[in-house]
Amino acid sequence: MRLDDLAIDNCLKCSLCNTVCPVLAADPRYPGPKRLGPELERLRREGISTDTEWVEYCLGCHRCDLVCPNQVNVSEMIARAKAAHRKPLVRGLRDWWFARPGLLGKLTTILPALSNFALSMKPARSLMSKLMQIAPQRKFPKYARPDLRSPAMTGNARQRVVFFPGCFIRYNRPGLGRTVIDLLERNGLSVEVASTECCGVPALANGDAAAARSVARANVKALARQVDSGLRIVTACSSCGHMLKTGFGGILEGDKKFACAAQKIASNTFDLAELLMAQADAGKLNTNFQHTALRLAYHAPCHQKSQGIGRPWYHLLRMIPGVTVEDMDAGCCGMSGTYGFKQEKYPVSMEIGKELFASIDAARPQMVATECATCQMQIEHGTSFKAIHPAEILLQAYDGLAPTKGRKDCSIDECECGPCRQKPEGADH
Ligand code: SF4
Ligand code: SF4
Repeated sequence: MRLDDLAIDNCLKCSLCNTVCPVLAADPRYPGPKRLGPELERLRREGISTDTEWVEYCLGCHRCDLVCPNQVNVSEMIARAKAAHRKPLVRGLRDWWFARPGLLGKLTTILPALSNFALSMKPARSLMSKLMQIAPQRKFPKYARPDLRSPAMTGNARQRVVFFPGCFIRYNRPGLGRTVIDLLERNGLSVEVASTECCGVPALANGDAAAARSVARANVKALARQVDSGLRIVTACSSCGHMLKTGFGGILEGDKKFACAAQKIASNTFDLAELLMAQADAGKLNTNFQHTALRLAYHAPCHQKSQGIGRPWYHLLRMIPGVTVEDMDAGCCGMSGTYGFKQEKYPVSMEIGKELFASIDAARPQMVATECATCQMQIEHGTSFKAIHPAEILLQAYDGLAPTKGRKDCSIDECECGPCRQKPEGADH
């Protein structure tokens, strides 16, 4: 008997999973994790057709899994049903592209300036909305030349780690990748950059099981060798971290050749903040932070919570003298990668984010720190505040530099408060 056969019988029908599901809270028509997961799974395994469009509305946030008292793998059952679900042609085509951010990154970064210009133009966005059902309200992230490279080995023999940037850092924010490398080096670690691109979360989230499996195999092939030679893997994107730590989301289960290596990778993968906190606990964290007057709101992404590592960024940021951090603890932002870009899901995506937006508005921080790129996009879309990766704040604190701060409609480069229409209380700019 397989483990997940047991898991169906483990369901107590307590409905705890339903109480934490952000989609169900935002739209009562959503059948909820208990129904879409173990209840319908029973029928699916009997070969009874239960296909429903609602499986597409699952965010893959894993909140249901985390609260289940009997360890039912609810979201994985829904992900499998999503992969079997047949979509209308246009949505299927759109999701095919969304499932392949590496391919999209390769194409758009042939001429990144041209791609950015085209993607930012209103007519192009309204055309994409008509042809591909992409929400016209959304702005695409900017693309940049993928020039992230392993730095040369420096100085004494030091502990070496593999940095897995994922496709967003590689194709959209290589500068953030260099920040991560710099942070690790300043903490006594030498870094090599993983050669693979996507972790596979976008493929899984878009119901493309074959693409997810192929990406997972490529990652296992490349990373297992490095883990075998004693290297640890570091991620700075919570979704990449989640995927690598769950043995590639169960998609390699039953694949004898890869499943065992995937587990080895899982137990040797660390979130950047988790690793830095471990350095701190061992008395090895470089704490030469300069005083930085900054009032932050921190949002923990769902895929950070699902790693079960506490709130390491929250604690690290509070080590910087002068920085105050308020943990928003306000649930899911509603973006979930490409989910919020889909026209039919845009309203529910924004409804889910309402509680977080209200908490940030009430906290009136100088900026928001969160380690997920799409949470950053959603926060900037739903509030008037700027959101950045906490690694950028930590690195700049070593040099006594205040990160670019302010409301999202101003940049410190051009702002000595002129463009700030509503200066947050206590803001020092
Ligand atoms: S929380 Fe777990 S046991 Fe309770 S209804 Fe959901 S799946 Fe079943
Ligand atoms: S993974 Fe998240 S959105 Fe999907 S059913 Fe579970 S709680 Fe709801």
